[in-house]
Amino acid sequence: MALIVQKFGGSSVSDAAAMKRVAGRIARTQRDGNDVVVVVSAMGDTTDELLDLAEEVNPNAPAREMDILLTAGERISMSLLAMAIEAEGIPARSYTGQQAGVLTDSKYGKASIVGVVPDRIRRTLEEGQVAIVAGFQGVNAEANDVTTLGRGGSDTTAVALAASLGADVCEIYTDVDGVYSADPRVVSKARRIPRLSTEETLELASHGAKILHLRAVEFARRYNVPLHVRSSFSELEGTWVVNPTEEDPMEEPIIAGVAHDRSQGKVTVVGVEDVPGSAALLFTTLAEAEANIDTIVQNVSTEATGKTDISFTLPNKDVPAAAAALENLRESLGFEEVQHNGNIGIVSLVGAGMRSNTGVSATLFKALADAGINIQMISTSEIRISVVVDAQEVDAAVRVIHSAFGLDSQDTEAVVYGGTGR
Ligand code: ASP
Ligand code: MG
Repeated sequence: MALIVQKFGGSSVSDAAAMKRVAGRIARTQRDGNDVVVVVSAMGDTTDELLDLAEEVNPNAPAREMDILLTAGERISMSLLAMAIEAEGIPARSYTGQQAGVLTDSKYGKASIVGVVPDRIRRTLEEGQVAIVAGFQGVNAEANDVTTLGRGGSDTTAVALAASLGADVCEIYTDVDGVYSADPRVVSKARRIPRLSTEETLELASHGAKILHLRAVEFARRYNVPLHVRSSFSELEGTWVVNPTEEDPMEEPIIAGVAHDRSQGKVTVVGVEDVPGSAALLFTTLAEAEANIDTIVQNVSTEATGKTDISFTLPNKDVPAAAAALENLRESLGFEEVQHNGNIGIVSLVGAGMRSNTGVSATLFKALADAGINIQMISTSEIRISVVVDAQEVDAAVRVIHSAFGLDSQDTEAVVYGGTGR
């Protein structure tokens, strides 16, 4: 008998029929003798629809009200799912994040979980019932207000609950059969990755692979929660995300996969004085504007001018605030201009085996060169190489890199079962 946390994403509970199918799976897991805790997202595109509605009513809606609105989506799905499970003959109780003891800080819209007190969930299990918990929400205990964890945050609810309950596994159900070597919507020959380290998963998730909420992977890594990412539409084995241990070091293929991110823009500050303090002032200002900077590139300054260009990437939504903040520095830093380009994409190759293999970057750059794709920026970590390319060339870049590293699957094409991709 195991304690299993199952998380179902919005596309797995998009309508009544889907809800019943999921309820059937949950009931089966319980009948097999397991304790089951379920975390559920809002149905289909509910969260986006609520966001659109709010935008119409007030484009600058107060963050507190926004969170109360958005948590409603998960309340709908959790209660309907509990009813569907009852219809299977299994008792089920649904709980809001607050009722389930998910405690957060006070950052509305992007709250972090600071603790989980799952007493009520434990009691529910002891009474032989399935516990359903609304994903992506908690309570800011100080203000006694509901908070949300940021888009896609239900994964994090699931892993945090699994950690606090000491669950044997946290199953993340989605609309594809696991984590793929590239987005199957872009590369039809992407292959399912049977096993990933949490480290690789973090790199993939933080570079645009829409597989798991980043904080969920961080929780899994910190508290050693084994994750099984799999489809709610099939019975196939998915992808296991685990921490390699000494007893089980994990055989590491050189490359795990290729991620891409279209949500980033590029800013270049032209003609910055090449003296100590320039970068410090620039990035302090950007931090104050709450711009989330990723790749930074500074050119070698030309001797004649003593000036340099500094480029960096950041989420497109942060670009206006960042550009405005930088304009205010023009006098004090004496730079020429700020250019921004929202028309880029970042393509990243990730693999733990990169550490001990040579020639990986050469293969990558050659693949892009052969396809006539220009690289605008390059950044690397121990297990990742990222390139910034023109937005129009992202798909092609992902495909040629995927092929160049022999990742194309020989047999089956990846199946995308559901979701509108919104
Ligand atoms: N419903 C929320 C969203 O769409 C949370 C989640 O799906 O994990 O972002
Ligand atoms: Mg969702």
